[in-house]
Amino acid sequence: MFGKILIANRGEIALRVLRACKELGIATVAVHSTADADAMHVKLADESVCIGPPPAKDSYLNIPALLAACEITGAEAVHPGYGFLSENARFAEILIDHGVAFIGPKPEHIRVMGDKIEAKKTAKRLGIPCVPGSEGGVSTDEEAARVSEEIGFPVLIKAAAGGGGRGMKVARSPEELSSALSTARSEARANFGDDAVYIEKYLGTPRHIEIQVFGDGKGNAVHLGERDCSLQRRHQKVLEEAPSPVITPEQRAQIGETVAKAMRDMKYLGAGTIEFLYENGEFYFIEMNTRIQVEHPVTEAITGFDLIREQIRVAAGETLSFTQDDVVLTGHAIECRVNAEHPRTFRPSPGKIGYWHVPGGLGVRIDSAVYQGYTIPPYYDSMIGKLIVTAATRDECLARLSRALDEFVVEGIETTLPLFRELVRNGDIRRGAYDIHWLEQFLAEGEPGN
Ligand code: ADP
Repeated sequence: MFGKILIANRGEIALRVLRACKELGIATVAVHSTADADAMHVKLADESVCIGPPPAKDSYLNIPALLAACEITGAEAVHPGYGFLSENARFAEILIDHGVAFIGPKPEHIRVMGDKIEAKKTAKRLGIPCVPGSEGGVSTDEEAARVSEEIGFPVLIKAAAGGGGRGMKVARSPEELSSALSTARSEARANFGDDAVYIEKYLGTPRHIEIQVFGDGKGNAVHLGERDCSLQRRHQKVLEEAPSPVITPEQRAQIGETVAKAMRDMKYLGAGTIEFLYENGEFYFIEMNTRIQVEHPVTEAITGFDLIREQIRVAAGETLSFTQDDVVLTGHAIECRVNAEHPRTFRPSPGKIGYWHVPGGLGVRIDSAVYQGYTIPPYYDSMIGKLIVTAATRDECLARLSRALDEFVVEGIETTLPLFRELVRNGDIRRGAYDIHWLEQFLAEGEPGN
């Protein structure tokens, strides 16, 4: 096992990793920008190193500074959290070349899943069901027209290098195709420096359902059930729950075994998420994330496993500590991402937290790195914490969530808590009847489904 781990991240995930390290008896190194000198992960770590000025490209994405921090402190491994360098295959390779372990998948798996065209080809080869679409990229308007006729309109044009929901364009008819193609290409070039695009059937009312997988790199791999992340705004997840209200145990076992087998075949190492759109009883692969995700606590809540601890264990060369038979799902969990944003306009609201009181009690977990008197810097993601609630059934979970949201008090900044208080009372949400467009419609129209 490692003696010392450097955490190449900030905020709640840095704290989450730090907590797992402490429980494993591993020393911790925090890194921080000059804007984060007062951050909680810095205060609680055994050592800390300032790695640069506030902009992420000069600090949290600064590979030479991170390498130097490893060398100065003698860290044996790096946990990248999510975002920042967590899916950068080159970073993983550089660390390995310098004798530092990367707590994450093998670089070749990060690379293949980071290219959406390659990822889809790989998924298909491994027997994972995919959205119908082009075999690889489309280079000409003629090819795009032929593929679109074959799969039928509407179609979605997606950037191979895409991420964060950018570089996607819908074409509803043959007439719209050529302009959608050129817009998607130029957005892809501007955002990702790569104008390769591919085409998929556009699904009208899908849910976003993802399967958590875990492997030890030696051919052992399991699935830990699904998370339903259909409540999204601008393709960003807002609330996640596990299990999904629409998946049967038979469907879970079937899709779970399909992806677990694929991970065994790949000899996948560490935590991963296979994301699907789900419509009319069918799963369609959209992408694989080769890292821990923001919403991992809902899976921890219903399985009882500590996923960060398991990431560290398998990165240190240990075999998976659980088999598929050990994975038993109990109860229901819901996570709300609390952002420092206006609850309707979503305008970021950085600044000083004047008052901070978090809910507690049975089945309530708060993952947050902010505190009363803390000043949220304007440079980074606006998520300031996650509220995760667990109960025996979905109805009890909603009641507990409602109670916990009422206890939560934040003053001095705006947060998205009032939005969650509305959502938890909404009829559609209570019935579990929502797709990936539901939240945008709710925000545009007021209160459907009551
Ligand atoms: P990104 O990497 O940019 O997040 P994804 O492929 O994960 O891109 O897709 C992001 C979101 O876009 C999905 O959660 C879903 O809301 C929507 N989406 C993606 N593919 C399709 C599709 N074929 N049909 C309808 N919506 C889609």
